[in-house]
Amino acid sequence: MEKVHVDKDLCISCGSCVAICPNHFEFDDDNLAKATNDSVDDEVRDAAEACPTEAIVIEEEDE
Ligand code: SF4
Repeated sequence: MEKVHVDKDLCISCGSCVAICPNHFEFDDDNLAKATNDSVDDEVRDAAEACPTEAIVIEEEDE
């Protein structure tokens, strides 16, 4: 199963992911994006593709 997370070291707070996929991403107290839900759907893939710094990481999880 795939899971998504945000690499906060790469996030530049551009807001794309929050705009594209508000069900999965929001800003934390430091104004960096975080995944509120680690499941992956097409919107999450769109957000990952749109992220200018490739901070949105989709990984395959073994189970
Ligand atoms: S699209 Fe990428 S850089 Fe922009 S807020 Fe989201 S994770 Fe951060």
